[in-house]
Amino acid sequence: MDPRPLAPDDSEHAPPRGPVRTCVGCGRRDAASSLVPMTTRDGSVFVDFTRGHAKGRGVHVHPRPRCLDDAARRGLSRSLRRQVRVKPAALRALALEAARAMAVDALSRAATGGALGDAGDGLRVIAVDAGELSASSSEAIGAGRAIGMGTRAELGSLLGVEAADWVVVTSEALTARLRRAAAVHTALAGSEVA
Ligand SMILES: [Zn+2]
Repeated sequence: MDPRPLAPDDSEHAPPRGPVRTCVGCGRRDAASSLVPMTTRDGSVFVDFTRGHAKGRGVHVHPRPRCLDDAARRGLSRSLRRQVRVKPAALRALALEAARAMAVDALSRAATGGALGDAGDGLRVIAVDAGELSASSSEAIGAGRAIGMGTRAELGSLLGVEAADWVVVTSEALTARLRRAAAVHTALAGSEVA
């Protein structure tokens, strides 16, 4: 699964909704849903969007290279009052990996829960190797109703066919997770090796 950045990112302009947390990278407060949740245990860092902070002490970081880098260099250790050893590139990779895992999980849940189809209202997930986009896909992307993720073969397997240019996820809860994963990928893709 390799999401491509298609969804417009309006997170910087929308007022925070729901719980608000402080980014340990830049120190600014933002909606928890727009931040990457992290925990540390025995000096190691874990990122898990779905588990929350059930284990260990939790902190939050913006999914931006600069915030993650500052968190790795200072913010995590300062916030947790103990030495946390993680390289900036490793922290970016952890966040990306966790976002991908969340996307895969959300898509498989949608498939098994009857919240996935090939048409209708919902979030359109377009294969990154789908080729030239149809007019309806372009329109969906422009309106923020589509993201790019997975390959034609991967999306097809969710529908039980050989390949699919897109799938439509109708569950709002799962759609929110997919959007969140896409936002993290948009912010970080290609930066983990910088
Ligand atoms: Zn930040």
